[in-house]
Amino acid sequence: MKLAPSQAFSALTAVGLARTGGVYTSRKDPSSGAKAPNSGSDVMSELKLRPPKNLLQLENRGALARTRPTLKNQGWGTRKTPLATQTFELRAPKAEERSLVASLARDDNERRERSRVQSRTSVEPPLEEYYRALFSSFGPQHWWPGETQFEVIVGAILTQNTSWTNVERAIANLRGAKLLSPAAIARMPLGRLEQLIRSSGYFRQKARKLKAFCDFLGAAYGGSLKKMFETPTATLREQLLGVFGIGPETADSILLYAGQHGVFVADAYTKRLLARHGWVDEKTSYEEVRSMVERQFPGDVERFNEFHALIVSVGKQFCRPRQPLCGECPLGPHLEEGR
Ligand code: SF4
Repeated sequence: MKLAPSQAFSALTAVGLARTGGVYTSRKDPSSGAKAPNSGSDVMSELKLRPPKNLLQLENRGALARTRPTLKNQGWGTRKTPLATQTFELRAPKAEERSLVASLARDDNERRERSRVQSRTSVEPPLEEYYRALFSSFGPQHWWPGETQFEVIVGAILTQNTSWTNVERAIANLRGAKLLSPAAIARMPLGRLEQLIRSSGYFRQKARKLKAFCDFLGAAYGGSLKKMFETPTATLREQLLGVFGIGPETADSILLYAGQHGVFVADAYTKRLLARHGWVDEKTSYEEVRSMVERQFPGDVERFNEFHALIVSVGKQFCRPRQPLCGECPLGPHLEEGR
């Protein structure tokens, strides 16, 4: 918001006084006719306002300034300057002034947010250093656990909102029943599938999701995972995102861990870590976090594989949702870089 000088004065005044609970205006001294100051900031820098019990008081800090008790008792204060004596009226802020203060505060916040985002986009997080610190601390993670491509896909779908132990039980049930294949799941009655994967939680929805993927695979690629993964990454990603129950994180897990495509899985652990280190915030989207990592290691499948697994490890052991253990964490020394 651009303000005329007179508006700027009022605004500065209003903002300054809003913090102290009152508003003052400057005007000519009734007896001397001295001019009001050109700017409110010089006055504000020398005067300090306190809201007393019954009357706002004006307290001066300058050596020349004096407060006249009689005027002060009526809600007035004075300040002597080398040029003139100015008189200030103390009163409660009007509705429009409160609204101006709120609007200025909003503008100020937006400007700060813009400059913060701009400074962030020009500087990238030191992910190579994060990676090295995590790798030297945790070692190789050997992800994704799964004997076949299809098992990895099933795991990626079943692991939504549950622990890996529960997923392992569901996969063991499917394997034990010799039904761990796209064709078997596509043919199987929904109720039977639900019972086999019950341990993974949300089993009714997940059974539908598994069937939706197997139907897609059959319809688009004749049931061949080999053919599916030969599709260019961006195209296949779009196709997967169109399948019921497959969101960005699941699609990227399938692409990376089952298909060896060069995409990064920017899950909640990644966002929490980067947010705590000051590189993203709550509003940053999944795609922004993903591209933030991918542009530093373009197409590096092995790196994406290991990095995601390492971030999950640090997330579980140190970067917990509450009370992160930064003092013991391998990334502790990097904590202040992005702030
Ligand atoms: S625990 Fe602390 S130092 Fe470790 S990744 Fe989280 S925020 Fe960073």
